[in-house]
Amino acid sequence: MSDRPAPVPMCDVNAQYRALQPEIDAAVARVLASGLAINGPDVAAFEKETAEFCGAKHAIGCANGTDAILLALAALDIGPGDEVILPPFTFFATLGSVLRCGATPVFADIEPDSFNIDPKEIAKKVTARTKAVIPVHLFGQCAELDAIQAIADQHGFSVIEDAAQSFGAVYRGRRCGSFGAVNCFSFYPSKNLGTLGDAGLVTTNDDRLAKKLLAYRNHGSEVKYYHKYVGWNARLDTLHAAILRVKLPKVDEWIAGRRDAAARYDKLIDGAGLDGFFQRPASLPNRLHTFNQYTVRVTAERRDDLVKFLREGGISCDVYYPLGLHRQECVRHLGHREGEFPIAEEACRTVVSLPIFPEISVEQQRRVVERCSAFAAMGQSLRRAA
Ligand SMILES: *Cc1c(COP(=O)(O)O)cnc(C)c1O
Repeated sequence: MSDRPAPVPMCDVNAQYRALQPEIDAAVARVLASGLAINGPDVAAFEKETAEFCGAKHAIGCANGTDAILLALAALDIGPGDEVILPPFTFFATLGSVLRCGATPVFADIEPDSFNIDPKEIAKKVTARTKAVIPVHLFGQCAELDAIQAIADQHGFSVIEDAAQSFGAVYRGRRCGSFGAVNCFSFYPSKNLGTLGDAGLVTTNDDRLAKKLLAYRNHGSEVKYYHKYVGWNARLDTLHAAILRVKLPKVDEWIAGRRDAAARYDKLIDGAGLDGFFQRPASLPNRLHTFNQYTVRVTAERRDDLVKFLREGGISCDVYYPLGLHRQECVRHLGHREGEFPIAEEACRTVVSLPIFPEISVEQQRRVVERCSAFAAMGQSLRRAA
């Protein structure tokens, strides 16, 4: 028997199931017994509950967060010849959906402190072909929505919030998902609200767009066997809707748990004298950061060694994201170069996300920071030896 402490995971997707097992099992059993696994009543009920939660007029469930972005683009009639502005520093799905619908992605660099798309950079990228901008609320914190909406209004294009990582986040007193023309969520297990599989959601305040989104998720059909649009099967599975309905009332409590954990990391990092080694995540004014990730920066020279050292010590961590989307192989034809988006590229070289989830214990967080301290101290003695 080894007396090594148990590894600290990035997130514990089973903790919420363990806590809610009787309710989740009952909800799943109810759907199975009803035989209504496609578009059952739980889907409509979940849509009503999430629309209320987000403060949006309509919520339409869908298969996953990637489909949510595709649905938003389809409902806004965006396709070949159109340009969509997005950050180069986000999960691939944001870019993949733009490419899938045939539009041209146009990257705008990010802000160094929030990692979110920079409104000033958006303004530089607007052309007569711009049809939409996709601000991604990265790591749990909203992008600068007012400034972004002002640019969109000035030029007459749409805002699509990619809120996949930020369910429940607040900007100037309103939840995300209530701002853009169409807004996108994912309920992938590790998101703020996660199911035990794939699921997603779009929200809108526009009745006409809501009708189109409903049609697009169901083969473009408003009347069965009559197809107004070329939609696809992007429906939300009823089993997941039922599971998510059990979890939704807990999500604010879980966000509070994430915020508490982030505040504890801040204190532990300062207490260990690591505030010079790490740059802690910035919580910007007028926003409630939901800390889907707790992402620090270290110097580029030591980042990969730190990741390796943490993992060897049983501390999970990850680099979201190591390569800017403008440099991905699938968009080589766009001809982007290293150096074009310096802030995003610097983020790719310096970020590390530490384990965070609502149920993380003080003890687990202490071990994460202790291991980081050990690594930082090692660097100091190396420098002294040199
Ligand atoms: C997770 C995620 C998505 C995609 O969601 P899936 O449900 O995995 O398809 C899209 N955008 C961002 C920023 C994400 O983090």
